[in-house]
Amino acid sequence: MLTTTKTSLFLKTTKKNPPILLTKKRKLEIELYIEIIQSVYKSDSHITDLQAIIEGEKIYLIHDDFNDDFEACITFVPEFFTIFMNNNTLRMVDPIRQIFSLAHEIAHYLIPEHNKYLCENLMMQKVDIGMESNSLREKEAEYGASCLLMPRVKITEDFNSEPFGIQMLMRVKEKYRVSLTAVLKRYKEIGIEPIMIVYCYSGKVSNDKYAEKSSRFIYSKPIIDEQMRLPACTLAAVNSISGIDFEPMSKIHPTSDLFKLKSDRNDPLHMVEICFNGYSENSCLSVVFELTEAYRTLNAS
Ligand SMILES: [Zn+2]
Repeated sequence: MLTTTKTSLFLKTTKKNPPILLTKKRKLEIELYIEIIQSVYKSDSHITDLQAIIEGEKIYLIHDDFNDDFEACITFVPEFFTIFMNNNTLRMVDPIRQIFSLAHEIAHYLIPEHNKYLCENLMMQKVDIGMESNSLREKEAEYGASCLLMPRVKITEDFNSEPFGIQMLMRVKEKYRVSLTAVLKRYKEIGIEPIMIVYCYSGKVSNDKYAEKSSRFIYSKPIIDEQMRLPACTLAAVNSISGIDFEPMSKIHPTSDLFKLKSDRNDPLHMVEICFNGYSENSCLSVVFELTEAYRTLNAS
């Protein structure tokens, strides 16, 4: 019964007017809801026990082959929440993404406004297949999933255990069983070093894909030409047209090669670019951040 689960605690906090944007305040709010559930289902491991939440909250979990093109969804048929995992589409994606999809559905259940929406409408609005959509509710669930799988206190320790770079990112990615993109997005929100994430396809960035950056990152966008091409010196420009897989790599650039400097600003002299294989051919993902002494020392040894 719903009323016997911890859900009732969340339903009481539901607000009348849902927020319009995924603001910083809203992100903190979502993180708080997730932290409440994490304190109920404490885990000694750094891996969040999604199964324990599902069982404890009496959510049904059904894995089956469905014809529709969804990966996962959550429904409410009076008194029962059910998460459907569609083997038809999920068997095509890697297990890490399957875990994220499950966490996403659990986040819908845990965020009070979504829970209320589910109770009134029986299921979330259908969205296009994929990890992200433009729907605010979907963005909130993505954010909730990332908080659920990468709890702030635990992952901050890992983020701070060594300078930001390939080594740390790969270690954290493995440890929390999440994708590199998920780690970077989490770091962007709570990490110490300001970073900018740049997605690049065939040498070009798309308009909305260079804007993923920490709020303290001082540049709003990299230097790009009319065709949205990044400077030819960048690893992103080179790797995203090579068509071949590559190991993560790094390069130090004079800041002026990547960003427009301002005379009234104390621009850093050098930036580091680290570049990773993308998920599709001719795509890659670069992360740019200021070259620090700690990074130089680590990578010189
Ligand atoms: Zn969703």
